[in-house]
Amino acid sequence: MRPAPFALHRPATLADALAAIAAGALPLAGGQSLLPAMRLRDTEPEALVDLSGIDALDADIRIVDDRVHIGARVTHAALAADTALQAGLPWLTDAAAQIGDVQVRNLGTVLGNVCWADPRANLAVALLASDAAVIAAGADETHSAIPLDAFFTGFRRHALDGRLAVALELPRAPGARGCYLEFSRQRQDLALVNVCAVTDANGLRIAVGGIDPTPVRLHAVERDGAGALETALAPARHRPIADQHGDAAYKLHLADVLVRRALTAIGIAA
Ligand SMILES: Cc1cc2nc3c(=O)[nH]c(=O)nc-3n(C[C@H](O)[C@H](O)[C@H](O)COP(=O)(O)OP(=O)(O)OC[C@H]3O[C@@H](n4cnc5c(N)ncnc54)[C@H](O)[C@@H]3O)c2cc1C
Repeated sequence: MRPAPFALHRPATLADALAAIAAGALPLAGGQSLLPAMRLRDTEPEALVDLSGIDALDADIRIVDDRVHIGARVTHAALAADTALQAGLPWLTDAAAQIGDVQVRNLGTVLGNVCWADPRANLAVALLASDAAVIAAGADETHSAIPLDAFFTGFRRHALDGRLAVALELPRAPGARGCYLEFSRQRQDLALVNVCAVTDANGLRIAVGGIDPTPVRLHAVERDGAGALETALAPARHRPIADQHGDAAYKLHLADVLVRRALTAIGIAA
């Protein structure tokens, strides 16, 4: 199907992009989630703002003083190929490398994946376990950090509230270990359930996608270990998408298996 008619803004400055967003336009990054949804008429925005011509939005991955900066125009392919991240945060590059196919990875952006806010988005889950924050620019161009713990507010909903995401920031704690795992029907599909576990000097963080309308942290397991997993994944606590690929019990079983495998992979008894 063709998308409903829409206006396309192609601003060169952040100020013009923010003005268009304030007037109701939706940001367009790689288009790998938004455009298919528009073709299905799942969403019918009246206007889009193409982010590709804005110099202020960078495509840099920088590590400075144990902080990682990921610019708004960094693609999945660029993240997966970054050698510093492969060495220091390999669970992130693994998550990026498992997204879709090569075309999707070349066009889709890390921030687009997060801002689409699908509960099973690879990088949403991996970055939630990595203690990342979205740096958001408001209409007056002031920047604020939104921790991913507070970013996802519902199925494909987020806390930007008319702001533009301009970067991601996350710690690179020395000695951190992490593991990203997903279960998909076939190689290029969105995961049915995905999991990322990261341990560093600040403790253990476990994020799970596909068992609730947003990616979630398993705080009880982070605190009490795998013994708390059965209670943490009790059906009454979650709302997995039950679809033709499996019912709620199946999705929770997948989460249990993947969390245990991820914990084992980072050396934590499971
Ligand atoms: C065939 C196929 C297979 C796929 N497989 C997977 C998969 O296995 N795993 C997975 O996680 N994803 C998968 N995807 C989705 C893909 O990763 C997308 O690239 C990604 O989800 C969205 O990134 P994008 O840059 O294309 O964003 P777009 O589609 O352009 O935008 C997505 C959403 O984010 C908003 N947005 C984008 N950038 C910003 C910003 N800077 N600030 C505020 N809002 C913004 C847009 O307004 C829109 O609502 C697949 C897609 C396809 C077509």
